[in-house]
Amino acid sequence: MMKTKQFIKNLVRKNIRYLQPYSSARDEYQGEAAVWLDANENPYPGRVQLVLRDPATGRALAVFDEEGLNRYPDPYQRTLKEKIAVEKGLSPDQVFLGNGSDEILDLLFRTFCEPERDEVIITPPTYGMYEVLAGIHGIGVKGVPMDESLQPDAKRILAAATENTRMVFLCSPNNPTGNAVARRTVLQLLESFEGLVVVDEAYIDFAPEKSMLPLTGQYEKLVILQTFSKARGLAGIRLGMAFGSPEIFHWLNRVKLPYNVNRLTLALASARFEERKTQEEMVRRILAEKENLKRFLTTLPGVKKVFPSDANFLLVCFEKPQEIYRYLKEKGIVVRLRSGIPGCGEAIRITVGTEEENDKLMKALTPILE
Ligand code: PMP
Repeated sequence: MMKTKQFIKNLVRKNIRYLQPYSSARDEYQGEAAVWLDANENPYPGRVQLVLRDPATGRALAVFDEEGLNRYPDPYQRTLKEKIAVEKGLSPDQVFLGNGSDEILDLLFRTFCEPERDEVIITPPTYGMYEVLAGIHGIGVKGVPMDESLQPDAKRILAAATENTRMVFLCSPNNPTGNAVARRTVLQLLESFEGLVVVDEAYIDFAPEKSMLPLTGQYEKLVILQTFSKARGLAGIRLGMAFGSPEIFHWLNRVKLPYNVNRLTLALASARFEERKTQEEMVRRILAEKENLKRFLTTLPGVKKVFPSDANFLLVCFEKPQEIYRYLKEKGIVVRLRSGIPGCGEAIRITVGTEEENDKLMKALTPILE
């Protein structure tokens, strides 16, 4: 249940607790001034017109006249956060934005982990950046492998945790296995783990399972990550979202770089909000294509298993994964080899592409596997 502000503060790295954060020019004045002479910007407006088009028809969906490119963006992205908060049924102070969710993951390490002392728990096989970031920051990693049904094991996670375990990362749906994490596992950790529970929902918009979002108001230690890079179709603009308690975001705001989300990104993300239909249509198509691809792969003799997927990719257990990977690469088709998969060792993760791309993949695989 909800703990006190002190609980989060005690988790914050000591030097961050006493840090005097940088105060940007725009921190000191809010509202629309008549004359901005505070940030050493060029006063002549940089202007660009952005058109967000329907990927299928090329039709313009939203046109953005972005006039203020000579000005720094809002350091706290207030306008976009308000839109996101309305969509998610949260208040804006329960939203934090970053340059991709990778930046937010990095900030969590910077803010909550003491180098050379603290550690985090991950549940392999899972998204590789958790471990890379821990390495960058000099933080230990305990891997508590998933069980045979590819679920994180809450009991074993709790048994592995020590007083220096600051965060547990759960990826739901998980990359690379594709399955969502059981809600009861998340709840067990929220009740009993004495650090932050980070639930990475990068692929949640493809999943039939519900987001853990409604739990944000109840558990101060919960951080949920989502992104514009997957279902929202805007990986190129780099925008990640975190949902959680204002107390956690208070500290992340002190640590983040002053203008971490740029004006073009803010404008394009707003455009995506104004037209949700294209995104929903893209997700529908991707899911239909996933079923097609799955049906095809399941019939191939060289395929041992296609894992159930709640995401926009399939994890496939081939008899000879290395050979298939090299063969596809020679044909100009790039997929991802992933190791440490229970019952499989090495498997191939295939992102669902357009109909045309998937056809190319299926045509390439047919002669060598039949
Ligand atoms: N989490 C997971 C599980 C991912 O697979 C990825 C990207 N592959 C990310 C986070 C990073 O996403 P972003 O583009 O928002 O940095």
